Amino acid sequence: MKRFLSIHAPKVVLTLVTTAVLSWSCSSVPITGRHQLSLVPESEMQQMSYAQYDSFMQANKLSHDQAATAMVKRVGTRIEHAVESYMSSHNMSDQLAGYKWEFNLVESKEVNAWCMPGGKVCVYTGILPITQDETGLAVVLGHEISHAVAHHGTERMSQGLLAQGLGTALSVAVAKEPQTTQQLWMTAFGVGAEVGVLLPYSRTQESEADHLGLIFMAMAGYDPQKAVPFWERMASQAGNGKPPEFLSDHPADQTRINDIKKEMPEAMKYYRPQSATNP
Ligand SMILES: [Zn+2]
Repeated sequence: MKRFLSIHAPKVVLTLVTTAVLSWSCSSVPITGRHQLSLVPESEMQQMSYAQYDSFMQANKLSHDQAATAMVKRVGTRIEHAVESYMSSHNMSDQLAGYKWEFNLVESKEVNAWCMPGGKVCVYTGILPITQDETGLAVVLGHEISHAVAHHGTERMSQGLLAQGLGTALSVAVAKEPQTTQQLWMTAFGVGAEVGVLLPYSRTQESEADHLGLIFMAMAGYDPQKAVPFWERMASQAGNGKPPEFLSDHPADQTRINDIKKEMPEAMKYYRPQSATNP
């Protein structure tokens, strides 16, 4: 199941608008330094995110497994601290302004996990048999949290606004075109009250999240080399009937695994082993 954002605006107009917009609305991704389109202030993304997260959590059941829930919160918090420490040492703490980190484990057969803007994380119990232990979970959370830290949702939302000719502040767009902006949010995140399915990120965003995720998990004291067997386990799920949702958004192909191996020497420089509690 693949859904892509389709861009209908004529190319020339899009280019002109893009040029105008880029001159005042560009940000760059931590670690990779890639410049990205950013039309939507993070504070506005967070507001929408917090409302969606609350309604999602109300509509879904938290897991009763106390050990697994504690593990999700522990891994999440350790990665949160790694992110905060990286951003602080690179004078980028302002990029985390307004974050209200939260890590929850919901009861669901789906193999899935995501992080919305502002650090709102959800892990589905269905992914735990594949993560297997705390370090495996750190691979997933490092990756998902990196999507948020790298503002990938904001970038996708901005591209959507631009494609709709709404190259303006989100608050203005919401006032003028409430339905369109709600639809864009759904296209960017797909997280409504019932549906907790993140739409696929672009390949660039995916490999960026892998790259950042390796570094953050290493800084959090988890062996980044464990990312390779995790993605191999994910790949082996592909043949088991209906591939998990997480896999349809995250193709665990050889290119991904090879890229992760290439980034390993860099990630290992950040690795300070700590004891991981593997239930
Ligand atoms: Zn991803």
